[in-house]
Amino acid sequence: MGHVVFIGAGPGAADLITLRGARHLGQAEVVLHDALTDPALRELAPQARWVNVGKRGFGPAAEQAAINARLVREARRHGCVVRLKGGDPSVFGRLEEEMAALHEHGIGFEVVPGVTAALAAAADSARPLTRRGRGRSVSLSTAMTRQGALQAGRTADTEVFYMAGRQLAALSRRLQDAGWPADAATCVVSRAGWPDAITSAHQVGSLADAAVLHAGRPAVVTVGAGAEAIASKTPAFDRPRAATQTHAP
Ligand code: SAH
Repeated sequence: MGHVVFIGAGPGAADLITLRGARHLGQAEVVLHDALTDPALRELAPQARWVNVGKRGFGPAAEQAAINARLVREARRHGCVVRLKGGDPSVFGRLEEEMAALHEHGIGFEVVPGVTAALAAAADSARPLTRRGRGRSVSLSTAMTRQGALQAGRTADTEVFYMAGRQLAALSRRLQDAGWPADAATCVVSRAGWPDAITSAHQVGSLADAAVLHAGRPAVVTVGAGAEAIASKTPAFDRPRAATQTHAP
């Protein structure tokens, strides 16, 4: 009987995985991975058999059950099985279901954290998630409910929404219904952590403007204190840009 290591791969680019994650990958016999992860990660485990079990969004329950069963089966046959997930495994990663399946079958596991998309977006956009005095709390929310409905609230000074990229107009309306002023700062970052990341700044009321720019790319939407530009004197900050550009003073 083997054991499973859940590893957060980070938001995409292979060099954002942790050293601990990379070390475990080097010992893996099998790697069950999500669709979003960088193919360059394979170089960290050339010895392993790589199996793509990725799916998008919530996915049907049957699909998740098949992943759980596969995980159990592989762990019974091998010493070290890695379950590689995008970002951090604990953030919108269905980790609880996979842990429960292993627990039920008496299979041991550990979790190696990763850089979640919200953190990579904060880095790429040069917008710290917390701000002294006025940005004291951060919430990570999925805009999508299990039923596919869109939900948004105002529970923290900075809200980061995952899985909202295709519904920015609806998100804009929901945010205003929840009490966000139309001129509150928002920032959209797609493919955060990748060399071709795009950052754009908006207001809650005009969030829909971001749709075309980020179409077809994984994106997070940051709203509130953590979406405000730091150096308002440098207009370059607020223009859509590639992440490879540096933040000149
Ligand atoms: N466990 C992942 C989240 C999985 S849910 C994490 O911790 O980041 C998938 C959602 O994450 C996408 O719909 C998108 O909102 C966000 N996401 C994933 N990778 C991203 C990236 N590189 N840039 C921006 N958003 C990303």
